[in-house]
Amino acid sequence: MNDFPTNKINLLKHLNNFSKNEILNYSSNRNYDLGKPHHNVSKLSPFLRRRYISEEEVLRIILKNHKVENIQKFIEEVFWRTYWRGWLETHPWVYDDYKKYKENVFTPPKTGIGCFDHWCDELIETGYLHNHSRMWFASIWIFTLGLSWQSGAKFFEDNLLDFCPASNTLGWRWVAGIQTIGKPYIARAENIKEFTKNRFYPQNQLNETPNLDFKNLSNGKALNFNGKKFQLSEKQKNLGLLLNQNDLSFNEAFDKQNIQYSCCLYSTKHKNKLIDNFQKQLNEDICNEVKDITLTNSFEQIYQWLIDKRIKNLIIPYQTTGNHVFSATFLNKINLLGINYNFYLRDWDHNAFPYCNKGFFHFKKMINELLNLASIS
Ligand SMILES: Cc1cc2nc3c(=O)[nH]c(=O)nc-3n(C[C@H](O)[C@H](O)[C@H](O)COP(=O)(O)OP(=O)(O)OC[C@H]3O[C@@H](n4cnc5c(N)ncnc54)[C@H](O)[C@@H]3O)c2cc1C
Repeated sequence: MNDFPTNKINLLKHLNNFSKNEILNYSSNRNYDLGKPHHNVSKLSPFLRRRYISEEEVLRIILKNHKVENIQKFIEEVFWRTYWRGWLETHPWVYDDYKKYKENVFTPPKTGIGCFDHWCDELIETGYLHNHSRMWFASIWIFTLGLSWQSGAKFFEDNLLDFCPASNTLGWRWVAGIQTIGKPYIARAENIKEFTKNRFYPQNQLNETPNLDFKNLSNGKALNFNGKKFQLSEKQKNLGLLLNQNDLSFNEAFDKQNIQYSCCLYSTKHKNKLIDNFQKQLNEDICNEVKDITLTNSFEQIYQWLIDKRIKNLIIPYQTTGNHVFSATFLNKINLLGINYNFYLRDWDHNAFPYCNKGFFHFKKMINELLNLASIS
């Protein structure tokens, strides 16, 4: 089976295999990067990022066979993604600052640091890196090679299958020591040796004692999150759902209530061929599975779909910071066509985001409550 199965049936098989064979050892094994095919971690991030499968569905499936207390670490990791999205949503200026950064994207030349060069190739060839390697890679980029964290974040942005504005920007800031201010992540040769089981040992090649200056830094005061809870209504006539990379499966909530709709899947070409191909294969699977669906790749095609299907009420996945696919101009045009639109904020995010304004430790205390609210514990 492909490393990243691009149809739902194979993805569910992959998830069930992981749940059966790996998850009970996840906590003790997850920090080891033993190379491809990375059996000890789930490799679900490219799917979760697009909500081709949702966090809720993943945990619901896994918790059918395991108790919460036996897979606590995995659950926490899934919630890290939710937490970062909520944190960026309540600190949007952090992303605006990153976006102001103008340096051109570049692929780092061979450095002679074996592990770093290997991870660079692995990322470009597969679109994936193990979490620990992302941390080491980012740390070497910043503290040994002396490059800016923003240029590294852009390099990831262009090559990761799972690129997520929140996890990526905040992951790089965390390594740089400006997310948890004054606590950078320093990659150490001994640690790399241990957690790659001797595959790599960059002895004397890393800067393990960089000069650091974190004076006068602040992340600013968090905004309150006040996104509205979405109300499913059977009364809305001529309903259209606009699936896109922010949520490729929110139509399932409407299926569950037997609410009729037409679907439009909006997807544009990605400049990275590997990512483009991955997206196309997911699109193909969705188009095979959803009854009344039209694939579009421009706003003009969406307007045409709205007219052809006589849509009166349009639902668009909620756009978190960094994920604004549809601009104000687009939304104005929808209004001009006489169509009501609403953003679909999943209950998952609605329940969690208000607790994402402080540190993860604070957020973590809410996990059981959030599982209860989703009726999955
Ligand atoms: C510098 C840096 C950049 C990163 N950029 C991204 C990114 O663009 N997109 C992305 O999805 N993740 C990013 N991460 C987080 C993490 O590395 C990946 O989510 C994880 O490696 C995905 O592999 P997996 O699905 O096998 O994870 P598993 O270990 O199987 O974890 C299960 C799920 O939990 C979530 N998760 C696990 N660890 C994290 C984490 N540290 N932060 C957020 N969510 C997590 C993911 O959704 C993941 O699929 C980054 C981390 C760092 C240090």
